[in-house]
Amino acid sequence: MAEQVEVLNPADNSVIETLDYTSEDQINSMIDAASKAFDQWRKVDAHERSAKLQKWADLMMEHKEELARLITLEGGKTYQEALGEVDYAHGYVDWYAGEAKRIYGRTIPANTPDKDVVVRQYPVGVVGAITPWNFPAAMITRKMAPALAAGCTIVCKPAVQTPLTTIRLVELAHEAGIPKEAVQYIVASGKDAGRIFTTNQTIRKITFTGSTPVGKTLIEESGKMVKNITMELGGLAPLIVHKDADLDFAVDETIKNKFRNAGQTCICANRLYVHEDIHDEYVKKLTEKVHALKVGNGMDENVDIGPLINQKGVDKVLDHIKDAQQKGGELSRSLEEIQSLGGNFLQPVVITNMTQDMKPMREETFGPVIPIMKYSKIEEAVALANDTQFGLAAYYFTNDYRTGIYLNDELNYGVVGWNDGAPSAPHAPFGGVKESGYGREGGIEGIEPYLEKRYLSIGNLNTPE
Ligand code: NAP
Repeated sequence: MAEQVEVLNPADNSVIETLDYTSEDQINSMIDAASKAFDQWRKVDAHERSAKLQKWADLMMEHKEELARLITLEGGKTYQEALGEVDYAHGYVDWYAGEAKRIYGRTIPANTPDKDVVVRQYPVGVVGAITPWNFPAAMITRKMAPALAAGCTIVCKPAVQTPLTTIRLVELAHEAGIPKEAVQYIVASGKDAGRIFTTNQTIRKITFTGSTPVGKTLIEESGKMVKNITMELGGLAPLIVHKDADLDFAVDETIKNKFRNAGQTCICANRLYVHEDIHDEYVKKLTEKVHALKVGNGMDENVDIGPLINQKGVDKVLDHIKDAQQKGGELSRSLEEIQSLGGNFLQPVVITNMTQDMKPMREETFGPVIPIMKYSKIEEAVALANDTQFGLAAYYFTNDYRTGIYLNDELNYGVVGWNDGAPSAPHAPFGGVKESGYGREGGIEGIEPYLEKRYLSIGNLNTPE
């Protein structure tokens, strides 16, 4: 294992901090400590667990600006967006502080009069969590909060690009009175953490947010010890603009949706299907607004789009743009203009005349690119939208309720936004179908993956003598 990692600011590639990697021995000792802590934490009464989570949520709000600054420094997104992410992350802690008090059981009428069957829910055990860099606060709190609320203990491995936000969040959790061994972080590469989490018997659950290929490896490896797993994987979100949509509204929502974190979100629209009757007008309105967006350092005021995470991310986006261009896609601005700011910055671009074989229609782009394909019949848009192994999020804009219901029924996605480009919320069960994963995060469903149902059958219940 390597010894140190430099955390870089994607805006200028300067080193923000150098951290020591947690050694394999240390990680295994931390997992042992989490196991001992589990025996205590699971017995802490639900109201006390709830109060501690609520205190943690309050501390997050008290440190909102500090956390947002860390998110922007290590992740690149604009400070305004980072403030929004802290609110979003806080929402999960606040929500699961409440859910801790609502872990109900049930009684089932038995098939003989002298028996009773009681179902109760118990925490799974020690959890290993692995998260990506694109939402350094929200992706980890939506694992930590329900795990702790359920009575589990958790060891968190944030992406090496963005560990600082997690570290600060864990410190605040400790300040709120959550035991140190109940919630811990490690600094490790994904490969090392994945290997340790999947082979250490004490980790009973692995919760992962990241790409589908890594998710598949973890599913395979976790299967060897039959570990409980939650997989929040990649997406390829379609966005359909139907002929009866409110075009100005659809343009504004598309922009809000697409350029969150410079297009590096799992649920941002990767590909657009626009009805032929309104295609030209929509493209004109959209392109004007897209070209007016200001790209720059996320800490600067008035910047709309920050840098991409690193050069690898930039290269992938450019590869997608070039592939589309070579196959006949028309760029709204030249390749030179797109790259004119240098570093990890890319100017946003709209690409029309797209066909389904081009890379942006088939693979996650993770960048500020809006590829648009025309359609004539709604069934055609549905077939194109569903033509993928992914099933995380989908969007459509229509003012006709029948079209709205039809699209919701036909689109095979876990999260659907109808006239809504920002559907994620702590109170809703976020997650994908098909190769976008399984398990849900958020809402009442988000605590279920950390609980196991057990039933007790009580016999000999005849009237006592
Ligand atoms: P990634 O390469 O899968 O990395 C995500 C995390 O997995 C990082 O912490 C990474 O560690 C770790 N990792 C890498 N290789 C691993 C391995 N062999 N075993 C175990 N862990 C490993 O994904 P990314 O490119 O950073 O993140 C973007 C992806 O996440 C996109 O596909 C996006 O759609 C998806 N995502 C999904 C959701 C959702 O809720 N469904 C939300 C956000 C993002 P390192 O520190 O070594 O990189």
